[in-house]
Amino acid sequence: MSSAQSVSPALPTGLKAVLFDMDGVLFDSMPAHAASWAKICTECGLQMSVRDVYLNEGRTAESTIEVLTQRTWGRSTNPEEVDRIYALKCEEFKNYPEADVMPGATDVLDAVLRTGQQIYIVTGSAQDSLLDRIYTHLPGYFERQRVICGKDYQHGKPDPEPYLMGLQRAGVSADQAVVVENAPLGVRAAKAAGIFTIAVNTGILDDADLLAEGADLVFPSMEALAEAWPTLCR
Ligand code: CA
Repeated sequence: MSSAQSVSPALPTGLKAVLFDMDGVLFDSMPAHAASWAKICTECGLQMSVRDVYLNEGRTAESTIEVLTQRTWGRSTNPEEVDRIYALKCEEFKNYPEADVMPGATDVLDAVLRTGQQIYIVTGSAQDSLLDRIYTHLPGYFERQRVICGKDYQHGKPDPEPYLMGLQRAGVSADQAVVVENAPLGVRAAKAAGIFTIAVNTGILDDADLLAEGADLVFPSMEALAEAWPTLCR
């Protein structure tokens, strides 16, 4: 089914910019992130299922590990522990094949460019090796100024700061923008920034998990969003 899964509210009139999340939206990288987080955390004695990874997607590594140490051991984490576990996770992640561009992602980007909006990326990722893929795998779409990454702000998703920074970078107000997200906490961050939010459910969660955070529309894939965009944007 290619139509939206919820009653379709209209996109903002005077839409000027579309802010895209990266992992799980533009790149099909979440299965590898989920498997490597779950494996390493379990080995470290922290309770974390693959579903937990998807539910916490969008948090910084530090925030993710804090959630887990609180839940498993009833205490805060510390910088040494974060560095150690995150280094293990990054090493484990290298064992997986490099993530492909999400099917339909370039179709969505092309559709948005055709209807005249600016495109930006707002990601929690701060790893240069992952950010570099934007320029190698999606050549010509995003110059550096159009990428807001984990190194650019203080408070990660679900805080609204990353998306507020996206608005600032684009020079638009919240009612002139749309966010495309795949994660519940990413939707929460975007809605907290006051932005119309389209969720694409590319992972293992239910649409209800995304709608519960306030997603205005939910699509089952980027292909479905690409197909619907010209109608949505009319
Ligand atoms: Ca994501």
